[in-house]
Amino acid sequence: MFTFCQALCRCPCCKAVIHGSEKFPRLHGTVSFIKACGGTLVVTELSGLPENKGVYAMHIHNGAECSGTQADPFANVGSHLNPDNSLHPFHMGDLPAVFSNDGYSWSAVFTNRFQPEQVTGHTVIIHTAPDDYHTQPSGNSGIKIACGEIR
Ligand SMILES: [Zn+2]
Repeated sequence: MFTFCQALCRCPCCKAVIHGSEKFPRLHGTVSFIKACGGTLVVTELSGLPENKGVYAMHIHNGAECSGTQADPFANVGSHLNPDNSLHPFHMGDLPAVFSNDGYSWSAVFTNRFQPEQVTGHTVIIHTAPDDYHTQPSGNSGIKIACGEIR
C-alpha cells in the first residue's frame, strides 16, 4: 500500500499541452507527469470540454505527433501505448477518464504503470465518449477530440 508521498519532485518531469481538433477549438489544457512513489502522478487540467457533465476517455497513445487526416485529425497517434502487449484497459497508456464540471476538469491520479520518462515522446488523447474499460482494443471511447504531445 502506498502512503502519499515523500518523493514528489517539484516540477513536472514532462508535460503535454492539450489542444482540441478543428471541431473542438475551445478545448485546451495540460497533462503533467510528476515522478512520485515509484511511478507517476498524472495531473490533468482541461477547459472547454463539449458537454457540461460529459465523461471523456483519456489515454496515452504510441505515436509522437498530433497529426492526421481530415477524417481523423489525430490519426497518427496510433494505438494505446502498450509495450508489453496487454489487453485494454491494462495498457501502459490507459488512464481514468476525465469528468466535465461545466466544461472544466481537474484531476490527479497516481499510476505505477510507467515512469514519466517512459511516456515522453508519446501523445495524450481525449476521446468523445467514456471508456467502458472492457471493449478491445480501446474501450469503445469514440472519436479523438483533443491531443497533446508529451515533451
Ligand atoms: Zn488501452
